Amino acid sequence: MDKPRLWRALERVPGLAAVPAEWQEHLGEEWDIAQSLFRPRQDLATSVPCPSAPKCECTHAVVTHSPDDIVAVCRCQPRRCETAPLKRSDIVAYEVDRKTLGAAAAAAVGAESAWSAVDGLAMTWRIGAFAIDPDSRAPVYMTTQITADDFQHVIGKLVAVTDGPFVLVAPTHDLLRSADEALLERRNVCFLTLADLLAWDEKGALAPAQSPHKTLDETRAKLRGEAFPPTEQAAYCRAITHESAFTMDADEYKALVARSPEFAVFIDGVTGAATRYHDGKAMPPGKLTAGEFAMIAEYIESRKIMRPTGTKTGTGKSAETARSLFNSARRKVDIKLGRYEWCCFQTRKATERGQTAFEFAPPDGIAWCLILPTQA
Ligand SMILES: [Zn+2]
Ligand SMILES: [Zn+2]
Repeated sequence: MDKPRLWRALERVPGLAAVPAEWQEHLGEEWDIAQSLFRPRQDLATSVPCPSAPKCECTHAVVTHSPDDIVAVCRCQPRRCETAPLKRSDIVAYEVDRKTLGAAAAAAVGAESAWSAVDGLAMTWRIGAFAIDPDSRAPVYMTTQITADDFQHVIGKLVAVTDGPFVLVAPTHDLLRSADEALLERRNVCFLTLADLLAWDEKGALAPAQSPHKTLDETRAKLRGEAFPPTEQAAYCRAITHESAFTMDADEYKALVARSPEFAVFIDGVTGAATRYHDGKAMPPGKLTAGEFAMIAEYIESRKIMRPTGTKTGTGKSAETARSLFNSARRKVDIKLGRYEWCCFQTRKATERGQTAFEFAPPDGIAWCLILPTQA
């Protein structure tokens, strides 16, 4: 499911209260899903959004002649829209249940839920306490603001009244200016968005959008002023497989090599070893020279049709030398299927007479892996 539209809406509807027509404009079909988060207010709305497309320049005034004679009147001068009847249900304002929202957010952060308004700050609440470690807790605040200026004011005030780090939750990143982001970082404030934290589940309830463990670790690291993710170890090598490409540290490399029998073709540039499995049986292992590995790796990485002399490794070599370098490499890494037929490295016609080109084009369903050592 797409990211909820609700989060943007929370930064567009002042006071988090509006008539159904206005919420529907912001939420679309999500309005029906989101019902559990809204509750009707006692007071009735005094205006409703203009239903015309394109809209006129006003919000239409609600005029109640009698309980069953309510109309919406365009306030533009001169009037641009027809006066239209309204049902009473059209002017019931619905507001976001902040406590429900705050509790869902606190749970997604992994904080103990609590509830209190922050003195002197509109639309800002303390929604929980986050355990940094067994002895220290950081307050978790939630705020919904409409303008970047108001958001900046809230940040300034929270930073001033809070000793130590805290967690700040807002609907989106949209109102956060880079200067404030830097201030939050200096103060070890962990800024999180409802957009990242929460999503609708099938039952129409708000549920954590990502693994709470990741959020916990990230939040804790930020509150302690540590980098997240932890500074990565220098990559040991890189792997390209039939499925993906990724970097590995030394342990991950060892683990992958241990799994080499799962690959029909496994070429390890760290050791130069090549293993092959055909019809479930291991074929004699090959040991590649540096030149052979470099050439074979070029074909696999580029997936291009190339003559051996057209590769970087083959440049400057005679056609015959380059070709025999390719052939000896192919014999060590590929599976021969017929007299001229190979599993992964296909022979292609080259445009020049008397020249042959090759392409790394393994059939679907063949598992293969190339490990490239990281250049020092
Ligand atoms: Zn209008
Ligand atoms: Zn109007």
